[in-house]
Amino acid sequence: MNRQKSFENEKPTLYLVPTPIGNLSEMSPRAIEILKSVNVIACEDTRTSGQMLKHFGIHNRLIAYQNFNEDPSARGIINLLSQGQNVALISDAGYPLINDPGQRVVTEATALGYNVVPVSGCSAFLNALVASGLIVQPFIFIGFLPQSDNERNKKLREYRSYPMTLVFYEAPHRIAKCLKSCLDIFGDRRCCLARELTKVHEEFLRGTISEVLEACEGLKGEMVIIIDGNHEDFHKDIDYGTLMMMVNDQISQGMSKSDAVKKVAGETGISRRKLYEMVHSIEN
Ligand code: SAM
Repeated sequence: MNRQKSFENEKPTLYLVPTPIGNLSEMSPRAIEILKSVNVIACEDTRTSGQMLKHFGIHNRLIAYQNFNEDPSARGIINLLSQGQNVALISDAGYPLINDPGQRVVTEATALGYNVVPVSGCSAFLNALVASGLIVQPFIFIGFLPQSDNERNKKLREYRSYPMTLVFYEAPHRIAKCLKSCLDIFGDRRCCLARELTKVHEEFLRGTISEVLEACEGLKGEMVIIIDGNHEDFHKDIDYGTLMMMVNDQISQGMSKSDAVKKVAGETGISRRKLYEMVHSIEN
C-alpha cells in the first residue's frame, strides 16, 4: 500500500492540472499558481499550450508528453521527479488522462511513491452530463468509440443492456453515423448532444436519438453525446455482467459486500436476495 498525505511531505510532485475547454476565464487561480510554481510543464503540444500559458503569464519550461510516444514521455517525467523536480501535466483542454495522454506516467509515479496531486477543473463530459436533463447517476464514461462501423457497432452492442447513462465523445464529421448506430442498436432512447461547451456557440440538443439525429446535420464544433441507459430490458432480462460490475464497483470504492448488494438492488429494482444469490454463485 502507498499512502499520500499530499501537503505533508517534501516529495517531488506530479500535478494534474485541467485547463479550460473553451472559455479561458474558467482557468482557476490555483491552477495558475501551480503552473507558475513547478519546474516543468508537460503538455501535448508545446505550441498550443505555450500560447494559452502565455495568456496567463506562465513562462516555465515546457516539454511534450504524447500518447503515441507515451513510454519515453513517461520516463522523461519520472526522471525529472527522481531529480527532485515538480512537474505539472496538462492537456490541450480539460483534464489530462480523460481521453488525453497521462495514464502511463500517473500509473508509474503513483507506483514509485511520488506525490500525484489533482487540481480541480473542467472536463467536457461533466458539463454535458449535468446539464443533459438525463439521470446523472449512475453513469459510464466511454469516451471515443472505434471509428470503423463494425467495431463501433460491436462496442455499442456491449453497452446495450447497461442501465447507466452512457457518455461518449464524438467528432462532428462522425456524429450522424454514430447516432444512427446508436438508434439501430439502442432503439429511440432519450439523448442529449452538447456542443461547444463554455464557448459562445454552446448548444444542447435534448430529445430522442432520432430527433437529435435529424437535427445534427451540418453541426460543427466539439461534441459530447449523452444517452439514457437501458431501463426496460434490464429487469426482465437480467444482465449478470452489468450487475456484477455494479456490485464490484461499489466494493472497490470501499463498501462491504452486503452494503454493495443492498445499494445495487435499490438502484436496479432487483430483489436483494436474488442479487446475493448471484454474487454468491459467481464466487463459488
Ligand atoms: N481532456 C478533455 C476533457 O477533459 O474533456 C477531452 C479531450 S478529447 C481529445 C477531445 C474531445 O472532448 C472532443 O472531441 C469533444 O468530444 C470533447 N470536448 C472537448 N471540449 C469540448 C467542448 N468545449 N464542448 C464539447 N465537447 C468538448
